[in-house]
Amino acid sequence: MTISIIGAGPGGLTCARILQKHGIPVTVYDRDPHPRARNQGGTLDLHADDGQLVLREAGLLDEFFALARPEGQEMRKLDPAGNLVEHYVPAEGELFKPEIDRGQLRGLLLDSLEPGTVRWGSGLEKVEAPGVLRFADGATVETDLVIGADGAWSRVRPAVSAAVPEYSGITFLEAWFDDVENAHPELAALVGQGSAMAADGNRCLFAQRNSGDHIRVYVIQRLPADWVGSRGTPELRAGLLDAFSGWSPSMLRMITDNDGPYVDRPLYVLPVPHTWEHTPSVTLLGDAAHLMPPLGVGVNLAMLDACELALALAGSSSFVEAVEVYEATMLPRSEKFARQLENGAEGLLEVD
Ligand SMILES: Cc1cc2nc3c(=O)[nH]c(=O)nc-3n(C[C@H](O)[C@H](O)[C@H](O)COP(=O)(O)OP(=O)(O)OC[C@H]3O[C@@H](n4cnc5c(N)ncnc54)[C@H](O)[C@@H]3O)c2cc1C
Repeated sequence: MTISIIGAGPGGLTCARILQKHGIPVTVYDRDPHPRARNQGGTLDLHADDGQLVLREAGLLDEFFALARPEGQEMRKLDPAGNLVEHYVPAEGELFKPEIDRGQLRGLLLDSLEPGTVRWGSGLEKVEAPGVLRFADGATVETDLVIGADGAWSRVRPAVSAAVPEYSGITFLEAWFDDVENAHPELAALVGQGSAMAADGNRCLFAQRNSGDHIRVYVIQRLPADWVGSRGTPELRAGLLDAFSGWSPSMLRMITDNDGPYVDRPLYVLPVPHTWEHTPSVTLLGDAAHLMPPLGVGVNLAMLDACELALALAGSSSFVEAVEVYEATMLPRSEKFARQLENGAEGLLEVD
């Protein structure tokens, strides 16, 4: 019996790791040509009551704490003038939701897998028929169970559901800053060791410290999904300065002083609830199953799904039974979170 996971993100890799810990063979397919093919993006907080429990089950909690940044739990709320309005400083030894860079988490999970588990450069085109995977290069693979862990634009999802992600109306423009203590000392001081945000009801700047002296800023606005289009950096910057007119020069540094281009991240969400009829040879986890606004639960839920599915597969007499057991918990849980976070992207713009 063969298990194929599509997607080497945090969900797919966690599932593979826990399956292998239970002696169950698995192959992971990812469309990236190699593990460092693209920048993995910003920082993630793993919670003590889900993400960290999963890493303990995976036997990787100590390795996680060796990389994690508990100081990243610091949170500053600023106003558009750059004044500090609220300040949360984590207590000594507080470990409820330390931060880790996305790339570090991927590396940690990848290093824990048996060599050759991940087949890079394998973009799935579709699940052609039950148990038949067709890849972008024309290759086909037969498998008894396919686990769609391929994120927002899952190519596995159509095998169980007709749902497609919808634009939330909110766009993040990501800007990054390197070597911040030397090259951007004012910004480094404004942001501190964790996150700093300011919103005025229509616009928000959200900055996060990453490891290695990097800061990432998300410029958050209500915009048409195609607003960025073919605009280059100077045009985008001019448009942003216009949109944020009236904000203080110290805050506008987050828009003007970035290293490299802006990265366009329009936020899409799956309809709520997103559910499907049980299908014996296919299931989904993580963003493929329940894409929500990025409000600090996505990776934790993806890893929790992955852990529960792997344990169900290890503890059941058949794949069919395991997938039923997993979906009976995962689908209602994700509906509950998705309802809580519905329209949550709009909430990022609110002053309070
Ligand atoms: C700006 C931003 C900030 C966020 N911040 C947080 C946060 O602080 N905390 C938090 O909990 N969550 C956060 N999230 C959400 C979190 O990133 C996701 O919920 C999480 O990454 C989902 O993990 P996943 O494994 O399901 O999917 P992904 O991380 O999307 O991984 C999917 C994998 O599948 C691969 N893939 C895609 N298509 C194919 C294909 N056709 N064939 C083969 N492989 C494919 C991709 O290369 C990728 O490796 C944030 C999201 C965004 C956009």
